[in-house]
Amino acid sequence: MSRFHIAVVPGDGIGPEVVASSLEVLTAVQAQLVDVSFDCEEVSVGAGEYLRHGDPLPKSAIAQMKAADAILLGATGLPEVRWPNGVEITPQIDIREILALYNGVRPIKLYNAAHSPLKGFGPGQRPIDMAIVRENCEGLFSDRLAPRPAGRDFETDTLRITYRGAARICRAAFDLARRRRGHLTLVDKANVLPSMAFFRSVFNEIASEFPDVRTDRVYVDAMALFLVQRPHEFDVLVTENMFGDILSDLAAGLIGGMGMAPSADLGDEYGLFQPSHGTAPTIAGKGIANPIATILSVGMMLDWLGHPETIRGARMIEEAVAQIMRCPDLLTLDLGGTKTTREITAALIAAIPAPLPCQESAT
Ligand code: ATP
Repeated sequence: MSRFHIAVVPGDGIGPEVVASSLEVLTAVQAQLVDVSFDCEEVSVGAGEYLRHGDPLPKSAIAQMKAADAILLGATGLPEVRWPNGVEITPQIDIREILALYNGVRPIKLYNAAHSPLKGFGPGQRPIDMAIVRENCEGLFSDRLAPRPAGRDFETDTLRITYRGAARICRAAFDLARRRRGHLTLVDKANVLPSMAFFRSVFNEIASEFPDVRTDRVYVDAMALFLVQRPHEFDVLVTENMFGDILSDLAAGLIGGMGMAPSADLGDEYGLFQPSHGTAPTIAGKGIANPIATILSVGMMLDWLGHPETIRGARMIEEAVAQIMRCPDLLTLDLGGTKTTREITAALIAAIPAPLPCQESAT
């Protein structure tokens, strides 16, 4: 029996709701796998933990995460819970830095043309199927915790790109492109910012290690345009931390919204899996959050664990999601349906071992 120890951080807002759904799905998948089990341990991190004990990310929580084979996180932070300087507490960013989870992989896949605001895209048409690789540990977020002298009439943020940071994220992105359709696009602002010109020079150097991967270079402002006009042309994008943050929300908007966008934050030692969305406080507690992004993140976790059976489990999740997305009567509000978080979870679980007898939508 192969046992996998999963540290589970439900977090705040809709985090606990979507995590509960994804754990039900994990249990259903486990029942289909041979000689594999998952032991889940809850870890308290986030705004709630801060309000209870004064620290959103206790050292003991980091130790629990480090001891696990993988980490599953819902979402953390709440708009009204802030540090004295006015910024929100963001333990999810701190965790990436502490565990060196530099490689933020954000798949963007349109399962049903009806869920996109764009016309002419989707299965059977021009597919939207790409992955945004976001550098997670430096860039414009790098000195956000640096002490700032009080009383100044200005404030600055530094966009820091190191050779090591750029080289490792570019290698990770080339490697992913090689495993997908062999096309990697660098997204930068090399025409204006020296840090970005440096990032591009490192990208060009690493490109010589991957002659089989076709490359493009696009400025970030143009990429915002191209993602709307011709998203089907992209396979893997690699970019700086803040550009990746913004573009991955834009890209989620092309495929049905944040409830459809999973992610993996990977390092050389640890892997953390979470939906790309935040805590969505306006819908928290209503039982209507779409859990699919978190469930797809569990699929990414199973794939990353790398055991033949967990990889098989990842495929089961992908196939069940693809099936359910074709059934308009089984979906949550954000996708134009009427179902609750619990109802879509139950439908997805029903689809895991067997095809669903649903009425498919015309699109
Ligand atoms: P953060 O800054 O923490 O990433 P955010 O400000 O980008 O968060 P989100 O919490 O991701 O905001 O929410 C953005 C929008 O998407 C909100 O309208 C929210 O209600 C919606 N949303 C996010 N996640 C889901 C979900 N799982 N199901 C349905 N709607 C969602």
